[in-house]
Amino acid sequence: KEIISKNFIEQIIEKDLAEGHCDTVHTRFPPEPNGYLHIGHAKSILLNYGLAQKYNGTFNLRFDDTNPTKEKVEFVESIKKDIEWLGADWEDRLFFASDYFEQMYEAAVKLIKKGKAYVCDLLPEEIREYRGTLTEPGKDSPCRNRSIEENLELFENMKNGVYKDGEKVLRARIDMSSPNINMRDPIIYRVAHMNHHRTGDTWCIYPMYDFAHPIEDAIEGITHSICTLEFEDHRPLYDWVVRELEYEMPPKQIEFAKLYLTNVVTGKRYIKRLVEEGIVDGWDDPRLVSIAALRRRGFTPESIKMFVELCGVSKSQSSVDYAMLEYCIREDLKLKRPRMMAVLDPVKLIIDNYPEDEMEYLDIDNNLENESLGTRKVPFGRELYIDREDFMENPPKKYFRLFPGNEVRLMGAYFVKCVSYEKDEDGKVTEIHCTYDPETKCGSGFAGRKVKGTIHWVAAKTAVKAEVRLYENIIDEEKGVYNEDGSLNLNPNSLTVLKDCYLEPNFSDAKAYESFQFVRQGFFCVDARDSRPDALVFNRIVSLKSSFKL
Ligand code: ATP
Ligand code: MG
Ligand code: MG
Repeated sequence: KEIISKNFIEQIIEKDLAEGHCDTVHTRFPPEPNGYLHIGHAKSILLNYGLAQKYNGTFNLRFDDTNPTKEKVEFVESIKKDIEWLGADWEDRLFFASDYFEQMYEAAVKLIKKGKAYVCDLLPEEIREYRGTLTEPGKDSPCRNRSIEENLELFENMKNGVYKDGEKVLRARIDMSSPNINMRDPIIYRVAHMNHHRTGDTWCIYPMYDFAHPIEDAIEGITHSICTLEFEDHRPLYDWVVRELEYEMPPKQIEFAKLYLTNVVTGKRYIKRLVEEGIVDGWDDPRLVSIAALRRRGFTPESIKMFVELCGVSKSQSSVDYAMLEYCIREDLKLKRPRMMAVLDPVKLIIDNYPEDEMEYLDIDNNLENESLGTRKVPFGRELYIDREDFMENPPKKYFRLFPGNEVRLMGAYFVKCVSYEKDEDGKVTEIHCTYDPETKCGSGFAGRKVKGTIHWVAAKTAVKAEVRLYENIIDEEKGVYNEDGSLNLNPNSLTVLKDCYLEPNFSDAKAYESFQFVRQGFFCVDARDSRPDALVFNRIVSLKSSFKL
């Protein structure tokens, strides 16, 4: 469904265009390459890319790699892959903030020359102490009134490696009594003798985010710099930086609320713990909501787009239920993907009156709601597998599936009637015997009698064996995300592995990421990591039923 009303960011952009504050729209997505992207980032990516598209503008991908401690090349590659998969095309506009280190240095020198920045010798804890609190103004650093010449010299020394980490910083000279603590002479450069993944040992001073980000935006000609709400208090500093550096086209920062999902773990810290403790099998474990995990689980870019659109863009913090994401993938796959037969908990069904060595190939629709997907041939024979829950020895009222004496339809095939069954010494049903009525063949127009139940099946002789993994939320919904001791409240049933599932042979050449509806059971996707052509592994993306209503 199209969302008709314009969101508040679109309103700002249209006003800016109308009033001539800008004549084009230029956005960017600025990830720090320090982890995998998650569903929240997907919102930011699609929002920024979508705005550029909508207003015929441009979209940059910029790695905000100004903090060398946590950054890794590995993340640069995974982030690019995820953004590409989502369909946000940065074309040839891939940038790295570290490419602007020289310009940032020059910008800092410019501030010093304007008397707007100074080198400060206070220790980190002293700086914190001098900064004051919400109710108390800050105190001037004894270095605040250093001469421009001295500041230039000291800053150059900082750059040349004269000082140890933390010994000196460069601070913007703004207002120690500002009600906004971010404006109380914030640090804009620090000494850090660290190797950077792109610039190596060229620099031993690095710019702070609040100084670097507006410069990055201005250099690239970003018109609307969209970020999340926690940066609202930093906007005055952002504006101060672009004003003092006298950029001709000052970019504008706009904040929106982060996307939070209920019943899933999004915090990097927690995911890291889950990975390290082996509770999940990596950052792309299908129970997580990193983009890599969603892709592996079987979500499509389209479903994520739909989800992000349904969430909308606002300034108020709220969280969205995971069920809405499930709704979106069901909607996306429902008509697109074939519906085939898979038996997850098999029990043998033998048709006593069907010729022993015969097989026939039935034509079955791939998707009853979408004829364009055509039909396929499905082998049928004397021995089949059906799902254990489709048979009961002593059924309750209203159970219309198979039980002794009852007749059901085998989907796309014949009516069969249960004549007997066998059990092992534990009482487990091992074989169900039926007879079939050749007259009742599906598509023959037979109307002599009706049955109330239809069940799916797979011919035993040609069945493809597969592993199927069922997932539930990793967090126990009932009791909340955390236990009293702060540990994660894990759902012990978040993963169920079914090793002996049988699928119709049409699945045999299913490829990684390919998804299907398993009739009556849900949507499933070939696991890209563990599946092999001769040992298929499927992930359940989502079951068919939903509690979520739009
Ligand atoms: P995280 O700590 O979850 O990785 P982050 O803010 O550190 O988030 P960045 O790489 O700095 O990650 O973020 C890149 C962009 O993604 C930023 O503009 C940020 O505001 C945005 N972003 C991050 N998390 C969310 C979220 N939950 N919803 C919407 N946008 C988000
Ligand atoms: Mg991040
Ligand atoms: Mg960040």
